[in-house]
Amino acid sequence: MNLLLLGLPGSGKGTFSEHLEKEKKMLHMSTGDLFRKNIDNKTKLGLDAKKYLESGKYVPDHITIDMVKDYIKKNNYFDNLIYDGFPRTVFQAQALDDFLIENNSKLDKVIYIDIQEEIVVNRLKNRLVCSKCQSIYNKKTKAPLKEGVCDFDGEKLLTRKDDLPENIAIRLQVYKEQTSPLLDYYNERIFNVNIGDHNIEEFIKTVYDGLKI
Ligand SMILES: [Zn+2]
Repeated sequence: MNLLLLGLPGSGKGTFSEHLEKEKKMLHMSTGDLFRKNIDNKTKLGLDAKKYLESGKYVPDHITIDMVKDYIKKNNYFDNLIYDGFPRTVFQAQALDDFLIENNSKLDKVIYIDIQEEIVVNRLKNRLVCSKCQSIYNKKTKAPLKEGVCDFDGEKLLTRKDDLPENIAIRLQVYKEQTSPLLDYYNERIFNVNIGDHNIEEFIKTVYDGLKI
């Protein structure tokens, strides 16, 4: 089974992916990592993407799509993959569907994590990240043992630029604009989970029961 996770930044996609990887032996595809790897290895696609990223521009769909196809083909990841952060546009979604069908596979379900904006704003603005190991903390719900430093390596905890209040609002807006056409496109494949005040365990159980996985 292939799954796509949709939900606002801070809705818990990362935590849920980790769970799927551990409990269901699924694989997680992060497009951020793919970009980084291609750039580090100086592949043609990586060099093309770099030009756009360096000038702060959106990487054109065809580059992102080719990178994803390349990765899936090389590793034979036609099944058991969690898509996170891709597709972002209907064009990408169509290209992915065509590619998977050509290879006798499909994107089975799209899990939409429906969560109140207020909750994610609170999470994001209290989020801290270790400058060294990237461990994630939360000032309110998951505070480090000693204020301002990482439990694992004692390094300084920072607020990501993305998580500054002015940037949170922009990210949420962009995400909503991008996601609503995707929700229409995937329509009958959507599995909607209203997370509300559910804790993560309840949420995971709801998804596993609903999808029978
Ligand atoms: Zn650390």
